Amino acid sequence: TEKFKMGLEKTRDSFSGKLNALVARYRNVDEDFFEELEEMLIMADIGVNTVMELIDELRDEVKLRNIKETSALFEVISEKLVAIYEEAGEVETTLNINNDGLNVILFVGVNGVGKTTTIGKLANKLTKEGKNVMLAAADTFRAGAIEQLEVWGDRVGVPVIKQKEGSDPASVIFDALQAAKSRNVDVLICDTAGRLQNKVNLMNELSKVRRVIERELPNAPHEVLQVIDATTGQNGLQQAKVFGEATDVSGIVLTKLDGTAKGGIALAIRRELQVPVKLVGLGEQIDDLQVFDSNLFVYGLFG
Ligand code: GDP
Repeated sequence: TEKFKMGLEKTRDSFSGKLNALVARYRNVDEDFFEELEEMLIMADIGVNTVMELIDELRDEVKLRNIKETSALFEVISEKLVAIYEEAGEVETTLNINNDGLNVILFVGVNGVGKTTTIGKLANKLTKEGKNVMLAAADTFRAGAIEQLEVWGDRVGVPVIKQKEGSDPASVIFDALQAAKSRNVDVLICDTAGRLQNKVNLMNELSKVRRVIERELPNAPHEVLQVIDATTGQNGLQQAKVFGEATDVSGIVLTKLDGTAKGGIALAIRRELQVPVKLVGLGEQIDDLQVFDSNLFVYGLFG
């Protein structure tokens, strides 16, 4: 909880700082106040549609409750943000990992978003929870990706199944599934290539990988996690849409939340993609991976 709050420091400072300034400037709720509030929320990357809706709801609430002073709106805004997040769907953010048998987690996302780091962090977290973890180096495209995953494998002490650079990702996944089955692995975490330049290739590659997983293991993959870099704001959302078209995504990992004032993107993602944020990256260290909690998140914005 403390880590989660600390990781949101930049977003919170910017968000509640601006909100405080706004409330100090406009004591009474009026049209100008709403306009500035709208602008401020858009800057926090909550997403234009979500902001419009929020502002409409706030206007209604102001009328309904006959609210005159802007300071009375703090609580209403936070309540509305939580509601907006939660009404987008169930807030189940725990990973779908069963206690018996092999679980497969597929990671997707554009290069540089923090995919490899997140895989390393998750492998560490699961290992600490007593799971037998294995990694599959199916990003055979990016130079150095396999070695980078091996560094994490060594660090955490888990095996990495690989082939040489340029080999068929589906073949790596096939090998990894066989190895995982024979070695009684609980969780197989699969890296995949993140090039977006060629959407058709990306789609073909991901669907081939998925087909292998689905064929080799019923009910797998158990999770398809897309990693999004929070510092890229609305761009990250666009990337997510492209991946969403390429493959079904079951959850989002929002990385680098510690490095941005635009943490509102978590709400935009939830709203526009209908996919829950399941994990957040709050730093470069191995322990800087946390389960996402929407209440903690929204209230974290207000300090
Ligand atoms: P990949 O290309 O998607 O596999 O990205 P990497 O895992 O190599 O990460 C790219 C950079 O982002 C590295 O310098 C990581 O240390 C850094 N990074 C990853 N996650 C986080 C995070 O949650 N917070 C911060 N501040 N940096 C991160």
